[in-house]
Amino acid sequence: MLTSRYDDLKNKVVLITGSGRLAGIGYAIAEAFAENGAQIVVTDIVTPDQSETQLQAVAAGLAEKHGVDTMFHSLDVTSNDSINVAVSAIEARFGKLDVLINNAGTAFGAPSDFINYDEDAWLKTIDINLHGVFRVSKACAPLLEKSRGAVVNLSSRAGKTPNYYNSAYAAAKAAVLMFSKIMALELAPKGVRVNAICPGFIKTELFDLRIDLEANHRGISFEERKKELINMVPLGNLADVSEVASVVLFLCSQAASHMTGQGLNICGGLTTSL
Ligand code: NAD
Repeated sequence: MLTSRYDDLKNKVVLITGSGRLAGIGYAIAEAFAENGAQIVVTDIVTPDQSETQLQAVAAGLAEKHGVDTMFHSLDVTSNDSINVAVSAIEARFGKLDVLINNAGTAFGAPSDFINYDEDAWLKTIDINLHGVFRVSKACAPLLEKSRGAVVNLSSRAGKTPNYYNSAYAAAKAAVLMFSKIMALELAPKGVRVNAICPGFIKTELFDLRIDLEANHRGISFEERKKELINMVPLGNLADVSEVASVVLFLCSQAASHMTGQGLNICGGLTTSL
């Protein structure tokens, strides 16, 4: 794993939503913080594919590998009850929260033009990607204010560049960017910094799913669609999850102490607008 060293992250308590999948960006962020000596709260939804036991093993594995304290707690960003129970458990276990990473996200109903977009899929997509960030941030704000902590919200390149046939996700990610800026201004007097990141094409299962759906939609193969996307990237490759995690670490460290309200692109040059 490619990671940076920040001494000030040692012993920080870090909550990352949607971080239970080993191949995902959330887990890469968790691991990068663990490598820097932080205490990690892995959270995710429990599903038939992702049991509580498996998710607990993910958190335990991080603790064993990096010699840090970790815990798993189920947390569904669409449920205030689930969020409140998780936040209370974090307070009981660690007595504080220093960093919140709003990473949970997904897209339902894409690819589809908006005229044919299924309304339930639209609402579910906006609920997880946008309202989830609002709910979790609201529940964590009192603890973050006490610790004068930091927040990073996962937006997307899709939030800055029209991502057609994926309107619900793109609209939610654009709203996450604006919400991040408002959070940053409202929390600045309390010493809490809030930034967003806009990843481009990152090698994860979610990205593979996108390639698959778009390939089917276009009647071309997975490899053909993947090649098209890679060819769009000026740096000529898809990013590894660790290349996202390293930017998140920086934003939460003292190295970024004068940065708040920003939306940083991590996209190999795909987005170059001023
Ligand atoms: P992923 O599917 O591997 O991870 C998403 C995580 O969110 C999973 O662990 C999933 O269980 C969790 N999740 C889904 N619904 C949830 C809910 N209701 N409550 C809590 N957790 C829930 O995808 P990823 O690629 O690692 O994506 C992580 C974040 O990065 C997402 O916000 C995504 O939109 C964003 N992003 C990804 C890319 C990319 O290319 N992969 C690009 C831009 C932005």
